[in-house]
Amino acid sequence: MVSLEEALESLLGRTGALDAEEVALAETHGRVPAGDICAPVDLPAFDRSAMDGYAVRSSDTAGAREEAQVRLVLRGELPAGASLQPGEAVRVATGGPLPRGADAVLVVEATREDAAAVWARAAVRPRDNVIRRGSDVSRGTVVLERGTQLDAAALGLLAGLGVTRIRVFRRPRVHLLVTGDEVVAPHEEPGPGQIRDQNSLGIGWACREAGAEVVGCARVGDDPDRLREALTAGRGAEVILVSGGVSVGRRDFLRRVVAEMGGEELFWRVHMRPGKSALGALVDGRPLVGLAGSPGSAMLTFQLLVRPLLRHLGGHRYLARPRVPVRLAEGFPKASPRPRYLRATVGEDAAGPMAHLISGQGSDSTFSWLRANALVVVPGGSGPLAAGESLEAIMLDRPEEH
Ligand code: AMP
Ligand code: MG
Repeated sequence: MVSLEEALESLLGRTGALDAEEVALAETHGRVPAGDICAPVDLPAFDRSAMDGYAVRSSDTAGAREEAQVRLVLRGELPAGASLQPGEAVRVATGGPLPRGADAVLVVEATREDAAAVWARAAVRPRDNVIRRGSDVSRGTVVLERGTQLDAAALGLLAGLGVTRIRVFRRPRVHLLVTGDEVVAPHEEPGPGQIRDQNSLGIGWACREAGAEVVGCARVGDDPDRLREALTAGRGAEVILVSGGVSVGRRDFLRRVVAEMGGEELFWRVHMRPGKSALGALVDGRPLVGLAGSPGSAMLTFQLLVRPLLRHLGGHRYLARPRVPVRLAEGFPKASPRPRYLRATVGEDAAGPMAHLISGQGSDSTFSWLRANALVVVPGGSGPLAAGESLEAIMLDRPEEH
């Protein structure tokens, strides 16, 4: 039996980020850059007008006001490379480039136009209504650090910078095996004592949410030979996940089969509740994690152990969800000899963050996972908890940040 921290450390310590590949920007959402990304150019690339109006030399407008308007010669479009001369103005649209020689924009509302002239009804100072070259991002700035995830905002920025190919870490490939003679496909009508498979989809999609690809998924019953075959078939993947069959029942074969295949056991059983039955191993140098089949605890072990592992392989810099101090809105009657992770909704109260425990904390409870945005951590050795007790919560709805 190991602590959760030891179990995670043993997996992370024996694995590393996968190699990198170059990908078109449009395909990189959710991916992780394999190196810092620097701005290759200034954004914007030239001084631009922030408004519709007239580009001018600000000094020409000195003293202009409603009662003392200043006349400027209205130029048509300037030939490329030509400069605005003193006493001249040229029409510019929002976002349009400022001609050379101009240092400010007079907004339309501060002007009056007649035949060949435009009258300044107000003065402008240098840079008024001008978006300076490089004011969004200046060339050379690190806009994204290695190991941080690319999101919509990042893709938009990189597009503006012309960064259209990015080296990103390869996504870890997961082979998911679901054991249990009693487990049938979700679309099947379960016979007596049979149950529908919740983990192929529940854990499978949790893998994808963690940035992994699920390259294989099979239900293998409780048969050591089929299990061995399925583990062997999963050799193309970097990670093997197994649901169920990891405990000490007569139909729990995973541990034995892993040993027969020459796998190196890293840990078996984790000091936590629920989710105690978990196995960590290396098979052919690749990590294998066995999760208790009960879907409520499989999800817990996944979130606390497998998700950080998948992110580690995917090159993420940040693996741990933020933890916040919370107070319990209501008590919890059971003692916790082992560390316990309680599904909760954490919300802000007048007195600070409050954790409301959700009914359905069992290994088999899955509805509570839909409503939980946090896991309240009850340290091992705690007695029953009273309302108002101060504890820590792991925030599931906030991105990993350390
Ligand atoms: P096990 O870890 O194999 O002992 O399974 C523990 C409990 O979880 C048993 O009651 C199983 O029927 C149930 N179970 C196992 N696998 C699944 C699954 N894929 N979906 C839903 N329940 C499961
Ligand atoms: Mg089973």
